[in-house]
Amino acid sequence: MSNKFYITTSLPYINSRPHIGHALELVQTDVIARWQRFHSREVFFLTGTDEHGSKIAKVAKEEGQTPEAVAERNARLFSELKEILNLTNDDFIRTSDRDRHWPGAQALWRRLLASGDIYKDTYRGLYCIGCEAFITEKELVNGCCPIHLKEPEAIEEENYFFRLSKYAEPLIEAISSGKFKIIPENRATEIINVIKTGLTDISFSRPADKLPWGIPVPDDPAHTMYVWCDALSNYITGIGFGRDEALFKKWWPADLQVIGKDILRFHAAIWPAMLLSAKLPLPKVLFVHGFISSGGHKMSKSLGNVVDPIEIVDKYGADATRYYLLKEIPTTEDGDFSWRRFEEVYNSELANNLGNLVSRVLQMTAKFTNGQVPPIATELPQLSGLLSSIDRFEGYDFARVLTAIDNFTTSLNVLVDETKPWELFKTGRQDEVDHVIYQLLEGLRIDAALLSPFLPGVADRIYEALGLDKPSWRPLRWEDALVWGQLVPGQAVAEPSILFPKFS
Ligand SMILES: [Zn+2]
Repeated sequence: MSNKFYITTSLPYINSRPHIGHALELVQTDVIARWQRFHSREVFFLTGTDEHGSKIAKVAKEEGQTPEAVAERNARLFSELKEILNLTNDDFIRTSDRDRHWPGAQALWRRLLASGDIYKDTYRGLYCIGCEAFITEKELVNGCCPIHLKEPEAIEEENYFFRLSKYAEPLIEAISSGKFKIIPENRATEIINVIKTGLTDISFSRPADKLPWGIPVPDDPAHTMYVWCDALSNYITGIGFGRDEALFKKWWPADLQVIGKDILRFHAAIWPAMLLSAKLPLPKVLFVHGFISSGGHKMSKSLGNVVDPIEIVDKYGADATRYYLLKEIPTTEDGDFSWRRFEEVYNSELANNLGNLVSRVLQMTAKFTNGQVPPIATELPQLSGLLSSIDRFEGYDFARVLTAIDNFTTSLNVLVDETKPWELFKTGRQDEVDHVIYQLLEGLRIDAALLSPFLPGVADRIYEALGLDKPSWRPLRWEDALVWGQLVPGQAVAEPSILFPKFS
């Protein structure tokens, strides 16, 4: 098995601030990237921003700015999420990057052209001037654009088209054989049904005078690439396609592409068809997550319920934010965010369970075993159930893994309550005190190892408190981290500190 793992997020379009849905996808992808690194895979994690198109050009015009300036400003909000959410992306590709992205997008275009899959034709469509976009018959309400309440214009223009129709059969074959695997299964069924109803060729460019903010079509600057070749190509340009062949060969195909359910058709039909046309291998797996609603309603500016991830991080920290997204939002289905639920989970699972365990164990170590790891290793019966829960990670069922970790944490708190080390200490039963303190410290170490892909900040703090140096403490595999007895007897353990301050 190859030791490399290439993982991508979809690229958010930068006409809005980052919302919690963006944070969800980034955090899910980050957990998988960290978990793969934990298993000694060499990982490349790519994210970035989709910046061209008429919407950004329009904002720039309204603000009296250049599209470059607007893109620069808005892209920064997304690139800053790396630090805010404690992400480990290895690169951040921007589709407006003329040096790193454009050459690859144009090289891809040339490949599709060489395959005979790009041709010129007349595009006839309805165009809303307010939206500065084509609108379909289906989207009209009483014959008008539902946003601008105006009748769209029927226009004709010369476009390049991509022969998507040619790829229906090969796509169905790749998806149903599992060569191009889609998780969860119901999304694979959904897209196969869409493809079976027939794929029509798609418009692949726009006249440059109508869409100047984009990548010029190679050898025909009167046309600008439409979003498909412009943006989807980031998955290969980000790893060197069109500028660094060796780098590209090293990483492609993607091992996992993470997307939201709304862009399934783009990533399970258009993108793989483009790759087939370019004679490039398909991604191995496409992982499709659901959406987050806010307080039970779809997030929308007009309802005023858009949740800003930065606001949550400011108040509760990156780890607590990640915990909620991973534990409360089912990975492949829709979930909900509410401040009330957030505070419930924060208080019960993080502050009162995990945070409390860490602080009381460190406190007892300071008092009862001289602030050191005792010289006795006794195993915990609670471990066996934990090991089997780890398998669930392969199905990306993060909530179940985190529930298992939370149960393990609870079992350690129960151990404290039942053995009452303070009474053992008072009555001079030091041997028994040593046994239970050792069990609890090892329990904390295992908690940290298991939590490290999910709550990396908390894991680091626990490791540090146990006197386990970085990076030598990093085990090669997650399972290795669970082998009992890796603490060093006599090692000084830190004073207790508060991991999750309580909020009223
Ligand atoms: Zn409109």
